[in-house]
Amino acid sequence: MYFQDWYLTEEQRMMRDTARRYVDNVVIPFIEGDRTREWKMDPLDRLAPHILEQADAAGLRALGVPDRFGGISLDSATQSQTLAIIATELARGDSGLADKLVQNWKIAVLLAEFATEELQEHWFTRYMAEPQFLMAHCLTEPHGASDRWLPYNVPEINMDTKAVLEGDEWVINGRKQFISNGYDASLYVVYANTNNEVGMQKGTSSFLVPRETPGLEVTHCNETIGGRFMNNGEIVFDNCRVPADHLLVRDDALGKAGIYFRPGKILVAAKSLGIGVGAYEDTVSFVHERVQGGKVLIKHQAVALRIADMATRLEAVAALLRHAALAVDQRSPDADALCNMVKVFASHEIVLVCQHAMELHGGYGAMLEVGIEKYMRDALINLHSDGTTDVSNFKIVRAMFPETAGNYAGKD
Ligand SMILES: Cc1cc2nc3c(=O)[nH]c(=O)nc-3n(C[C@H](O)[C@H](O)[C@H](O)COP(=O)(O)OP(=O)(O)OC[C@H]3O[C@@H](n4cnc5c(N)ncnc54)[C@H](O)[C@@H]3O)c2cc1C
Repeated sequence: MYFQDWYLTEEQRMMRDTARRYVDNVVIPFIEGDRTREWKMDPLDRLAPHILEQADAAGLRALGVPDRFGGISLDSATQSQTLAIIATELARGDSGLADKLVQNWKIAVLLAEFATEELQEHWFTRYMAEPQFLMAHCLTEPHGASDRWLPYNVPEINMDTKAVLEGDEWVINGRKQFISNGYDASLYVVYANTNNEVGMQKGTSSFLVPRETPGLEVTHCNETIGGRFMNNGEIVFDNCRVPADHLLVRDDALGKAGIYFRPGKILVAAKSLGIGVGAYEDTVSFVHERVQGGKVLIKHQAVALRIADMATRLEAVAALLRHAALAVDQRSPDADALCNMVKVFASHEIVLVCQHAMELHGGYGAMLEVGIEKYMRDALINLHSDGTTDVSNFKIVRAMFPETAGNYAGKD
């Protein structure tokens, strides 16, 4: 069962327990306290400040930040596995909150690898001092998103967002959309085309862009079906100038970003699992309390069978998640296929788990005040974030059969 933990290291067990305490004592009471909050409040007011302050106090914001800045740098041999365990716990409480923190962890790892020492000193110090500080990575554009995940390497699918070096500044122009934390981040990692003569893999660079930079405008908060405690936003760059040292990776940014793209898929799967665990736990409680036909629901065999099916699906997701996270940490040749497999598998399985939860709750399953419908809404979000199912499957088959599957079809 997912709840057994014989495979955890001492460090992982400690972190899991810390995250679980935080979720049980801080997150769940907040979510249950007012279930209308995610719908009626302004995006910036939805998550009360104490939620991130308490996450900070528990050390959950510091993951991925180097020790020398007061963070918790994770052992790279077990990094994806550890982050997956913590993200699962957080998403059990609220998947939008998990997403907020996950973006921070991924970008912290990227900055620690590619930002200059001066920039790290500046931004990690600020990040550690401000519990509400969020980070975002900006890849998706109105005219191109799946194209960013596919192995096509031709100039016609290059980023529309361009960066040009003028003197000792990069000038960025373009638009990014659907960006997690995009509405309220203080620091952005932005991907832009820097060479239109070559394909996307070799012509894309990444930049660090502070929110207060003139020319950067956050134009919109996307209202989403689920994960509503993470504010997804749109950002426009209009002659946005950053100093030359804000270039993180020149020309091969997408290749180098692999250090967080692969763990990123693991983390989407972990968030799916956490949602499923929450739905399962609430359903197990409900079927042990609710009486119909003269006995508690669990004593009806049809109900018991659905509980068995939910538990089996959670176990299967958890097992593939551990396997894929291990492959990513060990830089195994099948890591690319496995991290996409678990992202797809988890997102679909957990929708089915939530469907059982809704069915077993009867009418209560559809009621905002009960919270089961929220699990379903949150689960649906993970079908599309970090790449659609079809595009992820395409990456899986391409990784397995590089010579025959998934070659570029060409322009219409
Ligand atoms: C909640 C959420 C959070 C997100 N966070 C971020 C973020 O933080 N940063 C970021 O950069 N992006 C983010 N995204 C964007 C996300 O990565 C894209 O939505 C996703 O990659 C799909 O792109 P698209 O929406 O433009 O759809 P499209 O790429 O237009 O795809 C539309 C349909 O066409 C299919 N399709 C596309 N190309 C092909 C092909 N070659 N062959 C066959 N079928 C194809 C797709 O599978 C899909 O079914 C987020 C999205 C969501 C929903």
